Amino acid sequence: MNLLIKNAEIITMNQNEEIIKGDLHIIDDKIVKIGPNLEVPLTDKVIDATGKTIIPGFVQTHIHLCQTVFRGQADDLELMDWLRNRIWPLEASHDEESIYYSAMLGIGELIQSGTTTIVDMETVNHTEYAFKAIAESGIRALSGKVMMDKGDEVPLPLQEKTEKSIRESVDLLEKWHNFDNGRIKYAFSPRFVVSCTEQLLREVQALSEHYNVMVHTHASENLGEIEIVQRETGMRNIVYLDHLGLANNRLILAHCIWLDEEEKRIIRDRGVHVSHCPGSNLKLASGIAETPYMVNENVSLSLGADGAPCNNNLDMFNEMRLAALIQKPIHGPTAMDAHTVFKMATIGGAKAVGMENEIGSIEVGKKADLAILNLNDFHTYPSYGVDPISRIVYSATRADVETTIINGEIVMEDRVLKTVNKRLVLDEANTSIKRLLDRAFIKN
Ligand SMILES: [Zn+2]
Repeated sequence: MNLLIKNAEIITMNQNEEIIKGDLHIIDDKIVKIGPNLEVPLTDKVIDATGKTIIPGFVQTHIHLCQTVFRGQADDLELMDWLRNRIWPLEASHDEESIYYSAMLGIGELIQSGTTTIVDMETVNHTEYAFKAIAESGIRALSGKVMMDKGDEVPLPLQEKTEKSIRESVDLLEKWHNFDNGRIKYAFSPRFVVSCTEQLLREVQALSEHYNVMVHTHASENLGEIEIVQRETGMRNIVYLDHLGLANNRLILAHCIWLDEEEKRIIRDRGVHVSHCPGSNLKLASGIAETPYMVNENVSLSLGADGAPCNNNLDMFNEMRLAALIQKPIHGPTAMDAHTVFKMATIGGAKAVGMENEIGSIEVGKKADLAILNLNDFHTYPSYGVDPISRIVYSATRADVETTIINGEIVMEDRVLKTVNKRLVLDEANTSIKRLLDRAFIKN
């Protein structure tokens, strides 16, 4: 597609965080020109964005699409109860169709709120159907089947042998990694140390190096979790991951709330990526990550909503706002300012997935992953004299996203989704969760 977007305010998030008033020219999947009054003789389509704002599409580095249909089924619980009593039984009940519609429900919400790239962790079974939804929807994603070869309390359908977990992961990787010219990538996804044997984690380390793919896991989210790791391995969680050779720039760790000084040093020195999930951390009463410290130490920091049953939305506007606000009572009003948080939501996420040269900012030569916001409304006015980034972080909402473009493809235009059949997905989400609840052995 040869697409011209006219007369916008373009928040580039390039090195100098330049804001340009002008036009944006896209050919196929790439941004080819940015500037005032571009002369483009032949275009397939022109979008008039007069008075509107273009931002880089958000990159959410921790999502569970398979859990979207569990939204509202696991409220007001702490992590281990949330997992054992609600999430694992529901994940164990999933079938191919429910995985597909759960993914579509999540992707619809993500696209509608301006997220263009996700790092997604699926469940043990049927991950093929999440990839199918990702492929059809046009969203950019790193995804992988969850790996969990340890733990007797896990429902039977989620228990897997080490060898099977590895084989299925590699099969999915060979089928989906770099699908659609690299729009989809595979990421090995061991659930967390508590659910994985040392042998599995060692093999994941070797495979991630061999294939040069990311590893995406949870770490140090909860005090109970790190106590279990300490008891079983004699080591702190992050020290253990480092001991296995996993702590490097191919590792994305969700949460990282409870770290000691040595663990903080490991994360910084090894270039490990931290996915901060403030909404989930508050709702599961897990704690508050020390993000101002990480910013000062130049730790690679990005944002994610986590799963729908622990948030309960997949909305980057929520996460940006929370990431800024939760630190202020502790560290003062200048901690986690709007620019820092917006960077985490865009170019920070791109760095976490090793794609900072391709996505995360609006620059010539980069992929056309962006959202057009219409900020002409009561809650975002006045605009005069207001820092445009602060306006987005503190005043704008998901409802202000009008159009979303991923890989040069318009996936939502004027709030109408082009690749996700909204009515069908909403209906099938209800049918799916009803079937799963009937089947799941839920402990109250
Ligand atoms: Zn998670």
